[in-house]
Amino acid sequence: MQSNKINSYVNKKLKEISRNNQLRKIHDVQRKPKNQIVINGKNSISFSCNDYLGLSLNRSVIKAAEVATKKFGVGAGASRLVTGNNYLYSLLENKIKKIKKTSACCVFGSGFLANIGVISSLMNKKDLILIDELSHASTFLGSKLSGAFVIQFKHNNVEDLEKQLYKFRNKYNKCLILTEGVFSMDGDISPQDDISVLKKKYSASFMLDDAHGLGVIGDGTGSNSLFKKKPDIDIYLGTLSKAVGSYGGFICGKKNLINFIINRCRSQIYTTGLPPSVLAASIKSLEIIKSNKSLIKKPLESAIFFSKIVGLETPVSPIVPIVLGDENKTLNLSRYLNRNGYLVGAIRPPTVPKGTSRLRVAFNSSHTKFQIKNLANLIKNKLKIYG
Ligand code: PMP
Repeated sequence: MQSNKINSYVNKKLKEISRNNQLRKIHDVQRKPKNQIVINGKNSISFSCNDYLGLSLNRSVIKAAEVATKKFGVGAGASRLVTGNNYLYSLLENKIKKIKKTSACCVFGSGFLANIGVISSLMNKKDLILIDELSHASTFLGSKLSGAFVIQFKHNNVEDLEKQLYKFRNKYNKCLILTEGVFSMDGDISPQDDISVLKKKYSASFMLDDAHGLGVIGDGTGSNSLFKKKPDIDIYLGTLSKAVGSYGGFICGKKNLINFIINRCRSQIYTTGLPPSVLAASIKSLEIIKSNKSLIKKPLESAIFFSKIVGLETPVSPIVPIVLGDENKTLNLSRYLNRNGYLVGAIRPPTVPKGTSRLRVAFNSSHTKFQIKNLANLIKNKLKIYG
């Protein structure tokens, strides 16, 4: 009889992952207000969360979720097309439409589901996808699932993007340029104005994954609000799980694009709708984001304050990477910070390219100056030792 090939594959891979200091474990964590967390009975301050505005623990957001649960129950029952929409979906989509000043919007189960479903339903093997090399795994997966010819262009490099468009555009039918608003592991922002010019010149479409932009960049409506001339984005993707503090994803675009997605996108059609509590929480959070301009500025202000103390470049988003290169060094620094009461994620391959392992410090509106100063000094002193 043949041996169990999956078991031996799994065992071999785990050994390899471990040898490369890339083994990950999921820890039980209790999150509390003001970035306090409890891991294995130990209190720490978290700098590793994407809840940029602390809205996941906001009292009025929690209240909205409670009211919706009492009124409509815990689950959606089936997919949106099969069982019908809870009207909270329409309220939420209308709210996003207003914030994004777009003609149509469709909420998904998550940003990941939106990326894989939208890209793979729009593109096929006759088409060309040009994707920034540092894009999120879900964007890459969507591109792969589509069967299109996929070219990675150099990170935020419009010259390289144009070179690839010039070389390949004519050989394919449709063409989609994919990039992120704020890069999740680097914290920098894509040149959306220049990409908009190129997409027009080469008859391509432009899809922006702004998971980390909404609620914290520019006027709070997303990273595209930073540009003097509004970028020409065909498909805008956002998530409700980061600054919005809830769960779910969405895309914005023209009415027909959204109608097509509702009819053809498998990760929208064949999955159960979001729980009513989650929809209600997102609606409440977006109201807070829209009305509280000083709140949305805080995460970036904290990132700038921190970077000044450590002696890093001035950041443009609440995500500050400290690239150490080596996996072991990164893990050791993360463990050292942990022993001193701070949780900062050690990001290693395959999440980031080999040789670029890093600490990813993520700031939110409720970090205090005291917490930030302490963390910055711990890191600064260690970096001095590393030289
Ligand atoms: N895009 C980017 C850039 C992300 O960072 C993430 C989440 N880490 C996603 C998409 C997926 O979003 P969600 O968590 O809502 O599935």
